[in-house]
Amino acid sequence: MTQTNTANPALRTPPPPTAAIWSGPTKGFSVEQQPLPRLLPGEVLVRVELATVCGSDLHTIAGDRPTPLPTVLGHEAVGLVEAVGGQVTTADGRPVVPGQRITWTIGTSCGTCRRCTRGVPQKCESVRKYGHEAITDHWRLNGGLATHCHLVAGTGLVTVPAALPAEVAAPANCATATVVCAARRTELTAGDTVVVIGCGMLGLTAIAYARDLGAEHVIACDVDASRRELALGFGATVVCSPGALETAVREFGSDVVLELSGNHKAVQSALDLVGLDGRVALVGSVSPGPTVAFEPNTFVRNLTHVVGSHNYAVEDLAEAVNFLVRTPVQDRFAQLVPDSFPLSDIDAAVAAARTGAAPRIAVRMG
Ligand SMILES: [Zn+2]
Ligand SMILES: [Zn+2]
Repeated sequence: MTQTNTANPALRTPPPPTAAIWSGPTKGFSVEQQPLPRLLPGEVLVRVELATVCGSDLHTIAGDRPTPLPTVLGHEAVGLVEAVGGQVTTADGRPVVPGQRITWTIGTSCGTCRRCTRGVPQKCESVRKYGHEAITDHWRLNGGLATHCHLVAGTGLVTVPAALPAEVAAPANCATATVVCAARRTELTAGDTVVVIGCGMLGLTAIAYARDLGAEHVIACDVDASRRELALGFGATVVCSPGALETAVREFGSDVVLELSGNHKAVQSALDLVGLDGRVALVGSVSPGPTVAFEPNTFVRNLTHVVGSHNYAVEDLAEAVNFLVRTPVQDRFAQLVPDSFPLSDIDAAVAAARTGAAPRIAVRMG
């Protein structure tokens, strides 16, 4: 009897991880195979389903934001756990197991430094951020634009329900969680009139989230008419161009102003138009820009609160996922992401993202 060596497809060795390695604005991307990482205790290997290209990735690619090189860009992603190093738990204390669908915080936090213990884990003294660090021998798969992502200890993990479409889930760990954190820091609550300045991915998310929290009026402001049209679909009760914002605020008030555009004129109007006992969150200004002036007497008399809000805590990420599951406009979030690109077409995906035609471009790994 002869024995044939027919490989069982189920036992075939899976292809090695592949990553889009970014080597700077001149050298660009190269899609390369990578060795499987050896997981240390507390680490998790995820098979990435889909990643979305965030505005901060585009800043890096354009050379506006220095990043250690080479690196794997991308941090908005969702995937399935492939392997776990020892005992690892999700943010709600459940054990992480292979096959589980998860998202993860953009950065790590140690949980013990002064910043972590004082409630700003996103500013942990030893933070490491996905899509922002140079590759090392141990940590080669350190961003979302890869078939696999190597999650190091201190990363906050949140389960993602199977029914949540990947293109809706992927932005949770940047855009959505950032909005949730800004809403928390401004104590956005039912009955507030909320002004959202800038109707890109964060702005549209902020509109839907403010309505979800019970905001009575949401005034959405953007220079772009098509974005204002989108804003109506996400629940804005009033939409306007920057020139008409003052009139809208005069009519409906402004208890909370979320400045998401980063434009210095928009920042100025956020400070000028916030109402009595109002709260302003500055979120969009993430690179140096022109100085903005304010007259303190008005702030004093109006009991104004101004907070900067950057990134988020793992609790915000858990709330972000819950919000995306429960929102009545989940279909509209899905429609914001056009057909995805394969990882091998990373240059085309980035070119599409840079046009700004869609709030998010997706890269599908499967
Ligand atoms: Zn981002
Ligand atoms: Zn820390």
